[in-house]
Order: sequence, then C-alpha cells, then structure tokens
Amino acid sequence: MPNIAVFIEQRDGKFKKVAWQMLSEAKRITAASGGEVWAVCLGADPAAEAAKYGADKVFTATGDSFGIYNSELWGAALAQFCTAQKPDLLLIGSTAMGKDLGPKVAAKLDCACISDAVGLTYEGGWTVRRPIYAGKCYIDVEPVTDLAVVGIRPNAFVLEEAAGAGAVEAFTPDLSAIEPKAVVQSIEAGEGGRVELTEAEIVVSGGRGIKGPENYALIEKLADALGAAAGASRAVVDAGWVDYSHQVGQTGKTVGPNLYIACGISGAIQHLAGMSSSKCIVAINKDANAPIFKAADYGVVADLFDVVPALTEEVIKLKG
Ligand SMILES: Cc1cc2nc3c(=O)[nH]c(=O)nc-3n(C[C@H](O)[C@H](O)[C@H](O)COP(=O)(O)OP(=O)(O)OC[C@H]3O[C@@H](n4cnc5c(N)ncnc54)[C@H](O)[C@@H]3O)c2cc1C
Repeated sequence: MPNIAVFIEQRDGKFKKVAWQMLSEAKRITAASGGEVWAVCLGADPAAEAAKYGADKVFTATGDSFGIYNSELWGAALAQFCTAQKPDLLLIGSTAMGKDLGPKVAAKLDCACISDAVGLTYEGGWTVRRPIYAGKCYIDVEPVTDLAVVGIRPNAFVLEEAAGAGAVEAFTPDLSAIEPKAVVQSIEAGEGGRVELTEAEIVVSGGRGIKGPENYALIEKLADALGAAAGASRAVVDAGWVDYSHQVGQTGKTVGPNLYIACGISGAIQHLAGMSSSKCIVAINKDANAPIFKAADYGVVADLFDVVPALTEEVIKLKG
C-alpha cells in the first residue's frame, strides 16, 4: 500500500494551491489502493487545510532555517524526512521553488526524479505521465527506485475536499552540520496587487494583437474588473511590452484557471502548452483561422480593441 508524501509549499505563511491539488490527487489514489497521505511543510503549520484536502498525517518543522527559502537547508530537511518516514512518493509542485528543491532531494537520496508531471497512476507500481515536445505528446515513466520524487504541474489535478485525519506528527530535522554556501538575506517584492497567474481562477492574456505596450492596459483593466490575473504571450514579453513574470506557455508559466481569455493571441503550440488545461477558454481574434479557435470553447472573431473595452464595461456594470 503506497504512502504518498506531499510537500506543502509556503511563502510568508501563504500556502500554494498546487499543494492542495496534490493532496486531493494523493487522496484519490490511496482511497482506491490503501496507504496514507502525508503532508510535510517547512516553516508554517498547514494542519487545518491539509486535513481538509485529505492528509492523514501532517509533519511540520519550524525554526529559523525555514524563514526564507534555502535549497540546501530545505533539501536536507526533506531528505531527512524521507529517510525517516520512507514514503513511496514525494510530490512537490513544479513551481520556481519546487523545480529547485525536488532534484536536490532526489540527488541526496539517489532516487528517481520525474519533473513536470501531469498524471499519476498506481497499479502495484507507479506510472507518472509528463508532457514532452512542448505538450505535443505524453510519456509514461515508471520509476524503479523505492522512493521517487515527482514534480507536479500546478493545476494538473482537480482540487477536491476529502477529510483526512490530519494527525500532527513531530518532525525535527537536524541541520546543525549544514553551512549553506548562499543565503538569501531579504526579498524585495515586485509590483503587486494583482492575483498571481498560477493561482488565479480567471486569467486574461494579451498577445501581439494588442499592437504595443500602451495597450496592455486594456488587458489589465479587464483582468481587474474580473478579479483575474493578467498574462501574456511570449511575443509580447520578447518585445519588452510586459515583464516575463506574465508569460504563459512552454517557457513561461502553466496556468489552469476556470476561465482563460486570450486576446490577440494566435495559439501557437508553445502558448497552448501553458494554458490548454484551462476549464473554459475564450479567444478573441480577428482572424477566423487563428489556431487558438481550435483550443477555444468560445470564439469571438472580432477586433480586440472593440471587444475588450466593451466587455470590461459590461463586467463593471454587472458587478455594480
Ligand atoms: C522554444 C520556444 C518556446 C516558446 N515559448 C513560448 C511561451 O512560453 N509562450 C508563448 O506564448 N509563446 C512561446 N513561444 C513563441 C510562440 O511560438 C509564438 O511565437 C507566440 O506564442 C506568438 O505570440 P502571439 O500569439 O501573441 O503572436 P502572433 O502569433 O503574432 O499572433 C497575434 C494574433 O493576434 C491577432 N490579432 C492581431 N490584431 C488583432 C486585433 N486588433 N484584434 C484581435 N486579434 C488581433 C492575429 O490575428 C494573430 O492571431 C515559444 C517559441 C519557441 C520556439
């Protein structure tokens, strides 16, 4: 019976949604196959929420080492956790932190490391599905080590509440022998206020069709009206119209909101790789043959400079 450990990522005490998605999927698997779901968190206590999404046990380590993220300390702590508790899988979100942390833990434990996974099945052994060639096809990987560290794409799994026992377990890693070679002293937050792309329920993205940096404000206005995050295609980022942190796609962020509104985006495979798992896709494009319409649930063949401001106005009116 497999025991699945899930790393609960937090920054400044705020937990990442992907952690609850991974718990939900782990619970679905153990409900069918037996075994337990363990939440493991460094630097904050996720017990209440972790139990809500199915954690049978919650391991929390606190202390000065777990303030600002440090890959050497956090990697050693997770490796010690795995050595002591012996889970069959350690799931880590494929976030900026997770992509750094997962391979470090796997290297320390000399075990399989599979990144960017979107599917997990257990039939006596594990099969991990991940996209290759920019999402053109999938590969099924079967780890052969006792433990596998698996990076999970945000929004690959459906969030579902399923009560777990949430028993709090002591976890005190010994990090006294580790002297980190690099320590982050402080973090300066960038311009904020808007919802983070990978966490957003609604994303409004602009592509080269917006014509210039000054028109990205149209995208931001609609995003603000909807309480959404603002994204962009790589063409817009490469042109320097918006910051890279907005880029959606193969070399940007992967999003999976309930609603994705693509404005003036052609729908290149590399853009689709980052947003095709969105529940509902609306495309606004003046070219009826744009490939984005093949991925879209609703298509508006029109000039975005007419549609986006009108839509924004309607949303503002509706919201009073
Ligand atoms: C290795 C690699 C990685 C990549 N990674 C990414 C990635 O992460 N994310 C990404 O997005 N791309 C990525 N790309 C680039 C990708 O191939 C496309 O070039 C890019 O997505 C195109 O951006 P776009 O759709 O905004 O621009 P275009 O392809 O130029 O499309 C603009 C669209 O706007 C429409 N339009 C123009 N004017 C209007 C108007 N007034 N109203 C309505 N519609 C209008 C046009 O009909 C057109 O369909 C990558 C490419 C490579 C090779």
